[in-house]
Amino acid sequence: MSPKPAPAGRDRLRIAIQKNGRLSEPARALLGSCGLSWRESPDKLFCYGDNAPVDLLLVRDDDIPGLIDSGLCDLGIVGRNVLVEQASERDETGKPANFREWRALGFGGCRLSLAVPNEWDWRGPAQLQDRRIATSYPALTRAWLREQGVQAEVLVLSGSVEIAPRLGQADVVCDLVSSGATLSANQLKPVCDLLQSEAVLAGPVADLDPLLAGTAQMLLRRIDGVMRIRDSKLLMFQAPRGSVADVLRLLPDAEPATSYAVDGGDLLAMQALCHGVVTWQRLEELKRAGARGLMVLPVERMLA
Ligand code: ATP
Ligand code: ZN
Repeated sequence: MSPKPAPAGRDRLRIAIQKNGRLSEPARALLGSCGLSWRESPDKLFCYGDNAPVDLLLVRDDDIPGLIDSGLCDLGIVGRNVLVEQASERDETGKPANFREWRALGFGGCRLSLAVPNEWDWRGPAQLQDRRIATSYPALTRAWLREQGVQAEVLVLSGSVEIAPRLGQADVVCDLVSSGATLSANQLKPVCDLLQSEAVLAGPVADLDPLLAGTAQMLLRRIDGVMRIRDSKLLMFQAPRGSVADVLRLLPDAEPATSYAVDGGDLLAMQALCHGVVTWQRLEELKRAGARGLMVLPVERMLA
């Protein structure tokens, strides 16, 4: 596909993030840990990038796919649920979406779940035939119903979806769930997940304009680096050549280890990036397998 035309010759990358809400803080924190900083405008809708040509636009999350679609913004951080809903909406009207998920970002996790009254004995989607489903995600819900071959009425509510069955507005709901506490407070139980969601970096379907592509690549490399070192530790140790295989077997969640000979002898100095917690117990097992001088270090930055 040919690159998107230059948005009026703009050479600063523009990223849309949520102004107020669950994703605003973590989105800013992620971009901050990529080394970006901003000068905020007094109305705080536009933040001018201080140290890189990357500006922020602070908006409602629902506006983010449309801003990318129209080229007013190049990238956005938004829940997959919003992105997929708006893509399904376009599908229904036969209009292709010019936005897609570029990266999953590992925060803002939730699921779009179908929830039914506690007293229902759930046997499967066929039970929804001719029922009323309340949701803020009508296009996604309709697409799912089509896949299941079920016909049901989809009632669109923009908030307080989970109260609809108690009010007699709907029989069941299709709503975002994280802990499930809101559902159970309304005597509902989740029975089926339509979508696993988390915050994602969204961008256009086509390549970005060459004026912006370099900056976007730089940002992606940094985001990948930040994601890789999240919950990661560098493990350094020494091991005799003959024990290396046994030692590495104890590090199944580590990235391939780097090793080099110490004094050209039998002893190897090794380092491995480990994901998750490196416990005392793990260190003791490594020591029994032949490792020595074990050291666990925090990782601050990483560029692959
Ligand atoms: P806006 O004012 O920007 O339209 P909003 O009310 O639509 O905000 P939030 O409630 O801040 O949105 O949620 C933003 C995103 O957070 C959701 O789209 C979803 O991806 C994610 N999220 C994570 N957990 C939950 C949850 N339990 N309920 C709702 N959204 C959740
Ligand atoms: Zn919203």
